[in-house]
Amino acid sequence: MLDLEKQKNMKILIVDDQFDNLKVLYSMLENEGYDLSIVKTGKQALVHISQHLPDLVLLDIILPDIDGYEICQRVKKDKATKDIPIIFLTAKRDIEDVIKGFGSGAVDYITKPFAQAELIARVKNHLTIKILHEELEQRVEQRTEALLMAKELAESASQAKSMFLSRMSHELRTPLNAILGFAQLQQLAIPENDPDEYKEMSDHILEAGQHLLMMISDILSMVDSDQGKEKITLTSCSIDQIIKQSIVLVEKLGYDGNVTIIINKPSKLYVQANHRRLKQVLVNFLSNAIKYNHQGGTVTVNVFSDADNEVTVSVEDTGWGISNEDLGVIFEPFYRLASAEKKEVKGTGIGLALTKILVQQMYGCIDVNSEVGKGSTFSCTLPKAMPVDDSEPSEQ
Ligand code: ADP
Repeated sequence: MLDLEKQKNMKILIVDDQFDNLKVLYSMLENEGYDLSIVKTGKQALVHISQHLPDLVLLDIILPDIDGYEICQRVKKDKATKDIPIIFLTAKRDIEDVIKGFGSGAVDYITKPFAQAELIARVKNHLTIKILHEELEQRVEQRTEALLMAKELAESASQAKSMFLSRMSHELRTPLNAILGFAQLQQLAIPENDPDEYKEMSDHILEAGQHLLMMISDILSMVDSDQGKEKITLTSCSIDQIIKQSIVLVEKLGYDGNVTIIINKPSKLYVQANHRRLKQVLVNFLSNAIKYNHQGGTVTVNVFSDADNEVTVSVEDTGWGISNEDLGVIFEPFYRLASAEKKEVKGTGIGLALTKILVQQMYGCIDVNSEVGKGSTFSCTLPKAMPVDDSEPSEQ
């Protein structure tokens, strides 16, 4: 169906050297709501077309200077004007003119003397085709743009994955080499001769084994959570207890960096969560706040509750901070910021992506505020829960 509303105010140029023809054509079209212009010579027509880009041209063939065919050819050659439809105005007898006109790029012709109904019908048809053509081009452009974006996204995801794989093979190999190397040394060492040396080797093996286990667990948790395999049980959990346990775990894992951890006064609040998973979220926030902090910096844990029956726990650091641009990618799996890579801080780029999935699985939300050079605050908001007896820490 013709969308006539869209044709209102479309620009039509009428080119004819005969005043009577111009008058007739103008009066036949003027009530249709078009924006009409008239010129009498070929030169004027070319100037008008290039300056005003009309939506349609009604073009007489015989003009005093440049003839209609040449005008048509020039318009079709120019990239900016080539899609403007041109309808020739011709006498009925000039069938050769019509053929020549089509050859030079015209889309139609109207014979003199003009019949109003035919003129309007042809003009409307060609304007509709032009609108459809433009809409189609726009859609193709949008699709091409969407495809290009999808391609770029896929490329950057696959690049991030390859980087992750090469980093992982290095990360996994390093502790494994330590385990194997020290175990071999232990076989050779005689414990009775030097028990201290023997103990030191055992410590290295244990430490490397634990690090390896943590990395493998992270990767498996990520894969499982991402595929929705994990079924999470939610219960009422004491925030104070989880914070304390997370800090002990972070210290056990050896994240230190001479950073002071401050817990603001006990909140006595409970949230609906999975104890183990929430601990994993906080351990990740805390370990990042230490890893990406300056020597001697601080990490502050705050808990607050709002009127919406929600509890927010935030981990604020005085570290490197994250730029606005980077905030958009840190929750993507495998992404690590250049600063982390440059300073050779250990990591897999999985922690925050996993944290985000875990928080969502507990029906909570995650947030971050950061300023480069000043520090970052990562927070997680969960539904408030009724207090329970939690003298025994639950580990679902
Ligand atoms: P990982 O720490 O293993 O690299 P994460 O997914 O936990 O992976 O974090 C992704 C990236 O976000 C990190 O590599 C680091 O560049 C940046 N980042 C995370 N937390 C902080 C923070 N508190 N301060 C500054 N940068 C951070």
